[in-house]
Amino acid sequence: MTEQKEGLAYLPLGGTGEIGMNFNLYRLRHEGEETWLAIDCGIGFSGNDTPEAEVLMADPTFIAERRDRLCGLVITHAHEDHLGAIAHLWPYLQCPVYATPFAAAVLRRKLTEAYLNNQVVIHVIRPASRFEVGPFDLQFVSVTHSAAESQAVALRTPYGLVVHTGDWKLDPNPLVGPVTDLDTFKALGDEGVLAMVGDSTNSMKEGPSQSEADVRIGLTEMIASLEGRIAVTCFASNVARVESIAKAARASGREVMIVGRSLRNLETAARECGYFTDLPPFLTEYDAQNIEDDNLLMIVTGSQGEARSALSRIASDTHSTISLGEGDTVIYSSRVIPGNEQAVMTVQDNLTRRGVRVLTDKDGTVHVSGHATGGDISHLYSLVRPQYSIPTHGEWRHLTAHAALAHEAGSQVVLLEDGDILNLAPGEVKVVDTAPTGRWALDGGRLLPMTGGVLAARRRMLFNGVVLASFAVDEEGYVIGEPRISAPGLLESEDPESMRICEEFSYAIDEIPDELRQDDLSFRNAARTALRRALGRKLQKRPLVDVHLLRV
Ligand SMILES: [Zn+2]
Ligand SMILES: [Zn+2]
Repeated sequence: MTEQKEGLAYLPLGGTGEIGMNFNLYRLRHEGEETWLAIDCGIGFSGNDTPEAEVLMADPTFIAERRDRLCGLVITHAHEDHLGAIAHLWPYLQCPVYATPFAAAVLRRKLTEAYLNNQVVIHVIRPASRFEVGPFDLQFVSVTHSAAESQAVALRTPYGLVVHTGDWKLDPNPLVGPVTDLDTFKALGDEGVLAMVGDSTNSMKEGPSQSEADVRIGLTEMIASLEGRIAVTCFASNVARVESIAKAARASGREVMIVGRSLRNLETAARECGYFTDLPPFLTEYDAQNIEDDNLLMIVTGSQGEARSALSRIASDTHSTISLGEGDTVIYSSRVIPGNEQAVMTVQDNLTRRGVRVLTDKDGTVHVSGHATGGDISHLYSLVRPQYSIPTHGEWRHLTAHAALAHEAGSQVVLLEDGDILNLAPGEVKVVDTAPTGRWALDGGRLLPMTGGVLAARRRMLFNGVVLASFAVDEEGYVIGEPRISAPGLLESEDPESMRICEEFSYAIDEIPDELRQDDLSFRNAARTALRRALGRKLQKRPLVDVHLLRV
């Protein structure tokens, strides 16, 4: 494998072969200088795969080691899987950030919460404009997506033009924001595109995308047919959807109240950027106290079953101000992100148990996806006509479905995995090297490597419990008193098995040879082996085992 001394390369550190954690890098080696550019820096939600960690992000070590050559981070749009990791990873990157006004407003709030707002330089870039970051000549191209001001990025370099689509779809009537700028994509195609790196999420769906305008009609009809209290839940980053819900509510003579911090943050960011101009400010729970049930609609957070969200609390009747019951309705104007199925079903079950009617996109057109279908993807290829196609933003089945469409459109396809360094030009387009990759988990306020000792121990405890033994010894190494055993997550303290283990452990440490008793480390290791033996096979578990030795 020989690396080009000069040229352009692409490296996904996260988001290829998985949905979430998008973190893309481009490397330009030109006139003896090496420069890196990052596009997006998002989080992923682990769902059921990794119950020991909820929020994940790509390990930034590779680029952190080269951050003196990282000229900037460009954000395509304000979704968590594209900007949610910046507040955690920026200290490792320390580069300026480029984003549209809306994405910048969303990001600023996150950085303020992380006490980073004064350190991070954010360059606000108008949608659809051209700008320079280091040696990269960049152009935002407006696309329709479920976040306001979503942009594709065209990268012009001395070695060719790359189109990085970000998340996008085709929608002739997106209601908020412009339609995907197909004229510009066609013009880029005419200029000659070396490679297109693109969204694969919905590549397995045939035909064209459904329109947000259909959702507005669907919601208006559904809401008009209902009586009693209505709560609608949706993703808290979708300005068009919140507007659709609010307008559908007002068409039925209902005032709109929003519940939940992320929706209030969305309202602030959206109004700052000139959205919702023909809607009065949304009501708070306090404002809405005296409004009749039939004249109110609430938009609530919690479409993914998030435990602390407003909807989860309402469903378990633990919300401080809102309760729903017989005759009331909850509408899910959203889809379930894979991994969240169980959590969402639990909330829906709790609502149903209380007599609340639950309506979803199975009951009417109340949600459409923000991602390009197979039909949309083929259309874009016919305009951009890239020499090479690099499917990203998807799991393998999505990437391969995207690849088939690209191949049909006449592009050569390169399927990558996170960590592959792909030479784009000059010379052969192929993987020339691999960067180390990994995942970090957000655990409380800390970042921990998924493969590190702490989370490995937690995984083991989660499934096998833990057994801790403590005992005291005198200076010569003779055991004083009785050892103590505790096995949280495995045995109740009065369990006879617990007493049996304690007795056997007690015998076993008496048997430890004298020469191992002088030094604490070897004594502890021998005692740990003794504890494992005392556990035996009866439990059919391999718990995490540890021993505390106290020399008195
Ligand atoms: Zn998105
Ligand atoms: Zn995305």
